[in-house]
Amino acid sequence: MTDQPEEFDLLVVGGGKAGKTLSMDVARSGRRVAMVERGMIGGSCINVACIPTKALVTSARAARQVRGAAALGRLARRLPDHPGEPGG
Ligand SMILES: Cc1cc2nc3c(=O)[nH]c(=O)nc-3n(C[C@H](O)[C@H](O)[C@H](O)COP(=O)(O)OP(=O)(O)OC[C@H]3O[C@@H](n4cnc5c(N)ncnc54)[C@H](O)[C@@H]3O)c2cc1C
Repeated sequence: MTDQPEEFDLLVVGGGKAGKTLSMDVARSGRRVAMVERGMIGGSCINVACIPTKALVTSARAARQVRGAAALGRLARRLPDHPGEPGG
C-alpha cells in the first residue's frame, strides 16, 4: 500500500467473466488496469452458475443411471431419494 494516489488507464467494475477477460486483455496491451469486485472473484460462472450447475447435472445423471441399473439386469444398492436419508 502507498499513500500516493495511483493512476490507471481503465477501471473495470466487476470481476466476473467479462471483467476478468477485459482487464487481462487491456493489461496485456501494456495499460494499467484496476478491477474492483464486491463479491466473489470470478463472478457467477465459476462460483454459482456454469461450473456448479454442470457438476450437479452430471451427479444427478449418474444417480439416475445407478437407480435404473436393476432394470438392465445389474444389481444396485437402493440410493436415498434425498441426501441424508438412509439408503436401505
Ligand atoms: C445457472 C446458470 C448456468 C449458466 N451456465 C452457463 C454455461 O454453461 N456457459 C456459459 O457460457 N454461460 C453460462 N451461464 C451464463 C454465465 O454465468 C454468464 O454469462 C456470465 O457469468 C456473465 O459474466 P459477467 O462477467 O457479465 O457477469 P457476472 O459473472 O455476474 O459478474 C459480474 C460481477 O460484477 C460484480 N459487481 C456487480 N456490481 C458491482 C459493483 N457495483 N462493484 C463491484 N463489483 C460489482 C458482481 O459481484 C459479479 O462478480 C449460466 C448462468 C446461470 C445463471
